Amino acid sequence: MKETIAVYPGSFDPITNGHIDIIERSLKFIDRIVIAVTDNPHKKPLFELNKRISIIKNIFKKSTSVEVEIFNGLLVDYLKKKNIFLIIRGLREVSDFNYEFQIVLTNRKFLSRLETIFLMPREEYLFLSSSIIKEIASMNGDVKKFVPEIVAKELKNIYKNR
Ligand code: ADP
Repeated sequence: MKETIAVYPGSFDPITNGHIDIIERSLKFIDRIVIAVTDNPHKKPLFELNKRISIIKNIFKKSTSVEVEIFNGLLVDYLKKKNIFLIIRGLREVSDFNYEFQIVLTNRKFLSRLETIFLMPREEYLFLSSSIIKEIASMNGDVKKFVPEIVAKELKNIYKNR
C-alpha cells in the first residue's frame, strides 16, 4: 500500500506545543511527516539550526512516523528532490492566511501538482508563536504550558547566560 507522506516546513525556533498539535493532527490522515527545518534569512534565529533539529528529534524519538531534516533553498526544489508533493501548514489567525495564500500560489507556479493542507490548532495555541515564547522566556516568564520540557530547559539555559 502506498504511504502518504507530507512535509511540514518551518523555522521551529523553537518548536512549540502549537507545532506539535499540528503534527499530531496531520498524523490522523497521513502516514509520515517530514519536519523540514529551515534557516529563514529574514528571521534572526535564537537557536542554531542543528540545535533546533536535535530538540525536535528528541521530542519525537519514539515516533516512527516523524522525521526531521534540514532544508535550504527553495521549498519546491526540496520537495521535487524528495518526491513529496504535499505540504502541511498551521493556520492561526487571519494574518497567517494572507501570507500563506501568497506562498501557495507562488509555489504552485513552480510545481503545479503541489497541494497544501492547512490545519488549525486547539484554541489554547491559536495565539502561540515561537516569537512570543522567546519574548516570555527572555523576561524570565514561565513557558511550561506552551512548549515541551526540553524546550523550556534550553530557553532557560540561553537566557540565564545573557
Ligand atoms: P515559518 O518561518 O515558516 O513561519 P514557523 O516555525 O513559525 O516557521 O511556523 C511553521 C508552521 O507552523 C507555519 O505553518 C505556522 O503557521 C505553524 N505554526 C506555528 N505556530 C503555530 C501554532 N501555535 N498553531 C498552529 N500552527 C502554528
